Amino acid sequence: MASPSEPPTLSIVIPVYSEGPNLDRLLAELERQLVAIGESYELVFVDDGSTDDTWQVLTAARPRYPHLRALRLSRNFGKEAALCAGLEAARGQAIIVMDADLQHPPHMLPQMVHLWRSGDADVVEAVKESRGRESLTNKVGARVFYTLISRLSGYNLEGASDFKLLDRRVVDAWQRLGERDVFFRGMTAWLGFRHAHLSFVVPERVGGRSRWSIIRLITLAVNAITSFSSKPLHLITAVGLVFMVLAALLGAQTLYLKLAGEAVSGFATVILLQLIIGSLLMISLGVIGLYLARIYEEVKGRPRYIIAQTLATPEADGPAPLEAREGWADLAPSTRHKARA
Ligand code: UDP
Ligand code: MG
Repeated sequence: MASPSEPPTLSIVIPVYSEGPNLDRLLAELERQLVAIGESYELVFVDDGSTDDTWQVLTAARPRYPHLRALRLSRNFGKEAALCAGLEAARGQAIIVMDADLQHPPHMLPQMVHLWRSGDADVVEAVKESRGRESLTNKVGARVFYTLISRLSGYNLEGASDFKLLDRRVVDAWQRLGERDVFFRGMTAWLGFRHAHLSFVVPERVGGRSRWSIIRLITLAVNAITSFSSKPLHLITAVGLVFMVLAALLGAQTLYLKLAGEAVSGFATVILLQLIIGSLLMISLGVIGLYLARIYEEVKGRPRYIIAQTLATPEADGPAPLEAREGWADLAPSTRHKARA
């Protein structure tokens, strides 16, 4: 095994949000699988501003797990940002990202590493075979989401999960993407490289509950679509053109009737047209607004996350306390990249 200061072969990156009760079991299972794999490794836990005892559990577990590193974000930044923090801190030659609730089964790790070691794949994706037990709204929501995404962005992400192994080269390429609001699943599809797939059945969550509210899912969907496609903008232009043609036809007819002395009667048509055009205009403005908001968020160039505390990084062993480090500053010298000006 490599010493804690030497870059390991494998990094396991896990975003955690209030998963205190699950962590001991997760750590034990991970350790068992990783020891069996026999490669050097590190565990990078990112505490995404948990409100429970997650950080205390990690601190307490540290003496038992010398390969455990942890970052504590200054507040809840969301899973995608927590993943970024973990990926930027990871030092391994292959980086595996997974959830903390054991819905991404650790027993898949040996197979994933084996596929990567065989040299045929730079990205090993664990694909959901079934989505586990979910409420009807979640199932329908997921279906609508993936259909929209694949129509609009051209990437089929159905069944894609955030459980995957990425070669160091892929993570380095990913770090150059530099946008603030990220949709991790889409980004790995966009990056390309050689992908291999392994299917898995999603088990029940071991404890706690999923934090994805409908609002959060909708936000993620909007982010995903606006970051991968400008098609909605083209779509409103196309709808505008169609309406222009219709307007010309209807206008010509109205003018003809007027000249022929048979003015159109009734307000029904006028009201209907008002309603249709009014709502189309509002939707169009809304779509433009969404893109504008994205540009605004990106232009501000704020860091994706703020690290408040770290546990057992090589630097943390030194004298200087690591308080309130910025998300762009990389913790791993080997993968350091420039912060945006
Ligand atoms: N998570 C996080 N920040 C959040 C919400 C979730 O880091 O704001 C983590 C969570 O602890 C878990 C993973 O992201 O490890 C997936 O979350 P969850 O199980 O709630 O999502 P689901 O499985 O329902 O998609
Ligand atoms: Mg889960």
